Amino acid sequence: MKGFEYLQDELDQLRKKGTFRDLVEIESDQGARVMIEGREVIQLSSNNYLGLTTHPRLKAAALQAVEKFGAGTGSVRTIVGTFSMHQELEKRLAEFKHTEAALVFQSGFTANVGVLSSLLDERDVVISDALNHASIIDGIRLTKAARRIYQHSDMADLEKALQETGSYRKRLIVTDGVFSMDGDVARLPEIVELAEQYDALVMVDDAHASGVFGRNGRGTVDHFDLNGRVHIQVGTLSKAIGVLGGYVASTQAVRDYLIHRARPFLFSTSHPPAVTAACHAAIDVLLDEPELIDKLWANTRFFKNGLQQLGFNTGHSESPITPVIVGEAALAMKFSDHLLQAGVMGTGIGFPTVAENAARVRTIVTAAHSTEDLQTALDVFASVGKSLQII
Ligand SMILES: *Cc1c(COP(=O)(O)O)cnc(C)c1O
Repeated sequence: MKGFEYLQDELDQLRKKGTFRDLVEIESDQGARVMIEGREVIQLSSNNYLGLTTHPRLKAAALQAVEKFGAGTGSVRTIVGTFSMHQELEKRLAEFKHTEAALVFQSGFTANVGVLSSLLDERDVVISDALNHASIIDGIRLTKAARRIYQHSDMADLEKALQETGSYRKRLIVTDGVFSMDGDVARLPEIVELAEQYDALVMVDDAHASGVFGRNGRGTVDHFDLNGRVHIQVGTLSKAIGVLGGYVASTQAVRDYLIHRARPFLFSTSHPPAVTAACHAAIDVLLDEPELIDKLWANTRFFKNGLQQLGFNTGHSESPITPVIVGEAALAMKFSDHLLQAGVMGTGIGFPTVAENAARVRTIVTAAHSTEDLQTALDVFASVGKSLQII
């Protein structure tokens, strides 16, 4: 069909730069090892931190829910798509996060867009970290509020932003809890101190911290003992929780308001029973099997130390996300391709997702990896890294 030739030019440019990517097909379940192009490879690119995508309790819960409640819900939440299990999951999430109430969205992305686009108006301002997730950026694009970006984790710049925005009705500071490309953690205790000093609100997006940081994986707010001092916590059910969805944990007033005003919640169908039931089971697992989180962190230490000892630049990660920074985007893509040929899946990431000269292969270990998996992966990183003269 004619009409999209103008797109082809841009795609050709990407190909020339070596940054055009085909979608990777997984031919198995999402485990520590997966099948790609008919070969078993070690998976170091999923967000399946605790291995819950394949946990027997989640699978059993999903199957049972399908048998009893069917494959879909047939409606949005606000018409007839709210099943008892949806409400129960929200009660459990609120309890788990030590908040008054919680509301589940179809994804973490829509949770951020729903909250940021609806809670503020032209009398308000959003103050956002420069490296926040795309869904926060898009949510901010949809708000009528003013916006102010502060330099990544720069508390002096955040304070300056607070000083310059005193005339607004409400000021909302927004930050990722764990930053998804570098794996560093927000300086939440300082952010909360500043917010209290300047009477601002705080919103933390704990997508990469849910199930990873805090007691039983409650997130960075719990990790820093800031329960009750952060106004809005966004979490995802799609990463460590192993299923799909996002949620907002906050006050009853915020929940009630979002039900009436958050457009992704209002105008998009609710989660199928299998998803909701599996999320319930995942919370049970977080409470009953904290050893999975211990294993995740033991694996993280082992793998991060291994990469550093080999001489790779792993940036300043403080989480299971470990970037292996190589510089040029084309080199990162080549590095990733060679790793895959040698049996390790590590995604290459370049501009515009990260800065132009900071392209990388991003790795995430999980609790499901054995020490042998990780040692094999380190050996592959060593040989490919040497052959490409990265180390
Ligand atoms: C992954 C991610 C999201 C989106 O979550 P989904 O549930 O996958 O839509 C939102 N915020 C951050 C910081 C993320 O890393």
